[in-house]
Amino acid sequence: MAQELNYWLTTTQIPTPPAQPLPEFVDVAIIGAGFTGLSAALALAKRGLKVIVLESETIGWGASSRNGGMVLTGLKLGVNKLISMYGRDLSRRMYAASLETIDTVERIVTEEKIDCNFARTGHLEVACKKAHFDDYSRQVEVIAREFNHPLRVVPRNELRSEIGSDIYFGGMVDEASAGLNPARYVAGLASAALRAGVAIAEQTRVTAVRKASYQGQPLLRVLTPRGTLWTQNVFIGTSGYTGAAIRALQKKIIPIGSYIIATEVLPDALARELSPRNRQIYDSKNYLYYCRLTPDNRMLFGGRAAFFPETFKTIRKSAELLRRGMIEVYPQLRDAKVEYLWGGTLDFCFDMMPHAGKIEGIYFALGYAGHGVAMATWQGQRMAEWMVDGKADNPFAEIPFPGAPLGLYNGRPWFLPLAGAYYKVLDWIS
Ligand SMILES: Cc1cc2nc3c(=O)[nH]c(=O)nc-3n(C[C@H](O)[C@H](O)[C@H](O)COP(=O)(O)OP(=O)(O)OC[C@H]3O[C@@H](n4cnc5c(N)ncnc54)[C@H](O)[C@@H]3O)c2cc1C
Repeated sequence: MAQELNYWLTTTQIPTPPAQPLPEFVDVAIIGAGFTGLSAALALAKRGLKVIVLESETIGWGASSRNGGMVLTGLKLGVNKLISMYGRDLSRRMYAASLETIDTVERIVTEEKIDCNFARTGHLEVACKKAHFDDYSRQVEVIAREFNHPLRVVPRNELRSEIGSDIYFGGMVDEASAGLNPARYVAGLASAALRAGVAIAEQTRVTAVRKASYQGQPLLRVLTPRGTLWTQNVFIGTSGYTGAAIRALQKKIIPIGSYIIATEVLPDALARELSPRNRQIYDSKNYLYYCRLTPDNRMLFGGRAAFFPETFKTIRKSAELLRRGMIEVYPQLRDAKVEYLWGGTLDFCFDMMPHAGKIEGIYFALGYAGHGVAMATWQGQRMAEWMVDGKADNPFAEIPFPGAPLGLYNGRPWFLPLAGAYYKVLDWIS
């Protein structure tokens, strides 16, 4: 059986920051050393601020080193739903931001010389049902008209030029998306932040943030088991790992497990057959599969095989389900050895939208719903500008941030088995 190990982590060395005592005072304390926190830290340090990133585990330990590395345009919510919920203007700004997120990643990778295999390979969504495929033409038309962004429909009889599978009803391609190696990217972001003067404190869990007075000034006091520090601003980038330190936020985030397997290195010809254009691929189900080739030609195949966040048991169970799923999609991989399996936690909000803003005087950005590689990076940069300039230019801060229906949620996702069953039924009937 495969090793329970994240393949990406075997391709890089995550930097180890120097161990130092916590400073007494910083301009900004950031919670979480993933894409969100490190991107913000880098931007803030470049504007001359004294910044510390507090991470309960190690750099990139959360979803940022565990994901599929798909740098995706668009939002989780469909475009028609987006417009009906938020109106044209706000939807246009949100969609434009989703396109800008890819440029932001590309700019940082170039400026900071991050060797992470960033490549504009485009993404391909494949339709699991005829009705899903029919909807692609409508979506392409709306996205071109309302958001001035070109996508392309691929009919079933041409799909072999995009994917080596015959089970789908057609596809939709967006050339603007990209792929990268997420562990190398998060390692590169951390190195860039350290070079810019950011302090990163690993093994430092924030247990609470309190408003308090420091030498007569109203400031925030950040509590950790290693001691406390004072700061003007706190920024939370804890995504699916948001805990009880900020209860108001924890209650708005649903942590959902996502799992990945990676095969042995495949021969070139087979790899090209499976993904002729090296796309970032995902399907149209709620309980979706996503897949791509790694730069060394492994098939990386992921999905929400179990809804619960990762444990030894859910990872093992999911790996078996994913292997079966992979063979359904790609019978050519029947004999391919699965060499790696791992899992991580996604952050969903109740409206499936990203959210950013201030809660109880503390800045935050999260809720990326599986689109976080690009969006988390962008949010980090945008939130840094907000903290420095005092002006929010962020459409995701302008939308309502709903909690659980009837308030029936205290941060423990007791309803996940029900939600999992609900989405399975939905995939069956819709
Ligand atoms: C298996 C998987 C596949 C995915 N695939 C894709 C993909 O292909 N494309 C895409 O766009 N998105 C994908 N995502 C989502 C994407 O990885 C995330 O949205 C993104 O990494 C979130 O980054 P982040 O920095 O906000 O959070 P994270 O990287 O999760 O980091 C949060 C950090 O906060 C720390 N933390 C939490 N609480 C505290 C505390 N109290 N004190 C100190 N530290 C704390 C945690 O230890 C953690 O390291 C995937 C996610 C998973 C799990």
